[in-house]
Amino acid sequence: MAEAELKVQEVFAGKGGPPFLTGLRRMFYLVTPNETSFQTLEEVPKYVQQAAPCFFGMILLELLVASLKNRRSPTRLNDSISSMSAGMMSEMTNLAFSMGIYMTAYVWVHENYRLVDLPWDSPLTWWAAFIGVEFSYYWLHRMSHEANILWASHQVHHSSEDYNLTTALRQSSTQKLGTFFLFQLPMALLVPPAAFWVHREFNLLYQFWIHTELVTSLGPLEYVLNTPSHHRVHHGRNPYCIDKNYGGTLIIFDRMFGTFAKEEEKVVYGLTHPLNTWDPIWVQVCHYTHIWRTFWVTPGLANKLSVLWKGPGWEPGKPRLGCIEDIPKVKYPEPKYDTKVPALWSVYVAVHFFLALVLYQELFAVVKVLTTAAMLGRVMFVVWTLVSVAAIMDRKPSAPVVDFTRCLMFVLVVMTTSLSGSPAVMLPSPLLNAMVAWYLLSAAIWGGNYLVPAFKAKAVKAD
Ligand SMILES: [Zn+2]
Ligand SMILES: [Zn+2]
Repeated sequence: MAEAELKVQEVFAGKGGPPFLTGLRRMFYLVTPNETSFQTLEEVPKYVQQAAPCFFGMILLELLVASLKNRRSPTRLNDSISSMSAGMMSEMTNLAFSMGIYMTAYVWVHENYRLVDLPWDSPLTWWAAFIGVEFSYYWLHRMSHEANILWASHQVHHSSEDYNLTTALRQSSTQKLGTFFLFQLPMALLVPPAAFWVHREFNLLYQFWIHTELVTSLGPLEYVLNTPSHHRVHHGRNPYCIDKNYGGTLIIFDRMFGTFAKEEEKVVYGLTHPLNTWDPIWVQVCHYTHIWRTFWVTPGLANKLSVLWKGPGWEPGKPRLGCIEDIPKVKYPEPKYDTKVPALWSVYVAVHFFLALVLYQELFAVVKVLTTAAMLGRVMFVVWTLVSVAAIMDRKPSAPVVDFTRCLMFVLVVMTTSLSGSPAVMLPSPLLNAMVAWYLLSAAIWGGNYLVPAFKAKAVKAD
């Protein structure tokens, strides 16, 4: 077990990105078995991590094309920051509950209990792993919608009322905890770890580009592949969209198991009961609190267990997945949660969010040499920033105090540790100095009470 654990730790230490075109091909699963078959887990490149430049490049491209086409941006700053914040929260949770733990278990099961020996370099193994990962993803995803306790984590991904490439980054912090062991670990009985990991990465990467409204139809490919059109239906809250189109890369399992729906009337995105906040922690935990309350007020042990394992819309006396008539009808245009803030605040929020991204990148770059306390300190500061930025966008009365304290804390920690000779943040000096100046200015703005009265105004709903 220890050796397997060591192997997995090494997998996550790889460096170096691919050439531009190779990176781009990977975003669409356009790879050959020959170039993506590996004998050991250690040899598998960190495909998802290496794709970060493609994520941001494609987001900018979508923004540009959509703006030229529709003359208005498809992306709202508050919603995009909320989506990217969820993605960052999810990846930081992976640091604490490292995917290494999951893959260590996978390697252990495969080494001790595998039923067949599939040759790692055979294209047949590659294709079997491709289908196996897609099949397990279909059921993992379907159960994440049909079992309330799993939906509590997966609903994060569906909580955006917009649909664009940033929505793809909106991920749950708790989903892997519940679904890996149930749905993916059994694959270790058949599929070698490296082949499983390669396809798990590409399955995830493929699902990025389908989160767009710019691609209408892909013709005959719509019969086989999961496409933007099919996935738009999956994100819909129109009654015809509920519990449909679970595929990752393919749509064939939805067609086989009766969960396919074609895009028809205009899709309205998001949860049937929207969250109405940008808070990155609340989005992760809100449905757990709902389940907790429902569990205790529901009479009888059998009913209480059903609250956990039946559908989110289930109540005593109803079918397992609830009644489709209970889904609220959509209207056009459906109002979205939106909060208007002055343009200067938007700039302020965007700059602080960008700096949170810088600190987040620094965290992942140096994580291997950090003590647990230093790692947790960084995670807490990035989360604090995301919460603070969201509070400003939500126009919460607490935002000025939360952000003033945060900015002051950053300045104090960086300055005192720099004086002691071991700076808390490992960034180039010019950048770090500029950040200290900016945080100091930010604290001064809040401390000077300049913006506080404006927070007495409440958030407003807008189209
Ligand atoms: Zn889903
Ligand atoms: Zn999605």
